[in-house]
Amino acid sequence: MIDKHAIEAFRKDFSGEIILPDDSRYEQASTAYIFKGSPAIVLQPRHSGDVSFAILFAQKHSPVISIRSGGHSGAALGTNNGGVVIDLSLINTIEVLDKTKRLVRIGAGSRWGSVALTLGEHGLAISSGDTVSVGVGGLTLGGGIGWMVRKYGLAIDALVAAEIVTADGRILRASKSENEDLFWALRGGGGNFGIVTHFEFKANPATTVHAGMIIYSADGLFDLIKQWRDCMRNASEDLTTTLVPFPPMMGNPAMVMLMCCFAGNDDSAAKKAIDPLLKIGTVLQNTIKEKPYAEVLEEAHPPAGVTFVVNNGFVRSFSDDLVQIIAGACCKEGSPVLQLRSIGGAMNRVPAEATAFAHRDSEILIVYAGLAPMNATQSDIDRVSASWKTMLPFITGSYVNFFSTATAKDVAAAYPVATYERLAKIKKKYDPQNVFNRNYNVKPAGN
Ligand SMILES: Cc1cc2nc3c(=O)[nH]c(=O)nc-3n(C[C@H](O)[C@H](O)[C@H](O)COP(=O)(O)OP(=O)(O)OC[C@H]3O[C@@H](n4cnc5c(N)ncnc54)[C@H](O)[C@@H]3O)c2cc1C
Repeated sequence: MIDKHAIEAFRKDFSGEIILPDDSRYEQASTAYIFKGSPAIVLQPRHSGDVSFAILFAQKHSPVISIRSGGHSGAALGTNNGGVVIDLSLINTIEVLDKTKRLVRIGAGSRWGSVALTLGEHGLAISSGDTVSVGVGGLTLGGGIGWMVRKYGLAIDALVAAEIVTADGRILRASKSENEDLFWALRGGGGNFGIVTHFEFKANPATTVHAGMIIYSADGLFDLIKQWRDCMRNASEDLTTTLVPFPPMMGNPAMVMLMCCFAGNDDSAAKKAIDPLLKIGTVLQNTIKEKPYAEVLEEAHPPAGVTFVVNNGFVRSFSDDLVQIIAGACCKEGSPVLQLRSIGGAMNRVPAEATAFAHRDSEILIVYAGLAPMNATQSDIDRVSASWKTMLPFITGSYVNFFSTATAKDVAAAYPVATYERLAKIKKKYDPQNVFNRNYNVKPAGN
């Protein structure tokens, strides 16, 4: 409980919304994605000045502070019990600063679906993620692996500057020429350094894309996965695909879904890239067609009554041995749902040390989701994660944005030692008291 008088005094400085448990908006404001919380207070700032007041207020009243942009953290970091939530959903402008230079400025609380629609009207696009409601803040600060990653790289590869409010309430700008250390850290280092209010990107030119899904029968899984890998090794970088082997579930038989996005409007180039994928496996359905980029982003509807236990890992070279392990682990009763995301291309050409996101030399990202009952016990978690352990020897690191936990082990998997040490020094400079700790936490150097 935060003292009423303190809240009244705070209202004088803060122009945003203050939501307390007795407010009719509390139910929604205390929930982040599928996670219900019970914070003492939710603050919704309207601008960077409000964020500054909110940070100073929060530090005075609670050690537990959640920073929320779109609220899609799989580890429920976007809410808490008894603490403060600083929710950036009112900082959601999407501006084109300079159309010729393709320079855009986006509020951290915007959602990627709105960004794609708005920028599309100006003939622009940013490769972000696959889901409409994911927030700009969390996805960007982790890296951002989207439908045009092989053509344009990660979302952070389009980032040119950010406005951030640090733990002491200062409003700073980070770019290649201002607070350069911070700019490096923000590109992959997550929410460790302050609250980012606005991101400036150099967007890409948008065209229509050829996108949709191919559904294959789950028979001959080893050959299907191997042939998909070989197709992607030879494919144009305009093509990004994700292969998803499903177990039998919700009355459907096991099957394999391939989600495809060819980033370009050249019909014959798209056909050349996609046709080989129609010759592998037994194709049951093909929905690929030309559409605006904004239509590729979809909404995710997690099935009710189950919990996803999510792990992920980058793979440098997708060997036959790993294909064999994956084929043996998938498409059976009770087996995990895997996303095998083709990456590489433009993303690989950025030097690993150029950003805090360091896993630049990877061919695929595996996102492994074990399906456990609600309120899963440790033994449920171990059971549904069993086949993940067999894939671990092939994994070279992890993506900070695809975990259902936020442990020190996850942090160590996400950041190579040299990256972590560099992040820790920057953390010490900008957040020496570790105020921003409800995240994939980097401890200030020396602590
Ligand atoms: C259905 C679904 C689909 C997804 N698809 C993709 C995908 O295609 N590609 C991909 O790369 N990722 C994807 N993700 C992962 C996603 O990038 C992360 O969950 C990300 O953290 C979500 O951002 P958010 O702003 O919605 O989340 P939030 O829960 O609001 O933020 C997550 C964390 O990021 C930090 N943070 C957020 N905003 C700020 C800020 N403004 N300043 C400082 N710190 C901040 C905080 O530590 C916060 O706890 C997906 C997740 C889901 C649930």
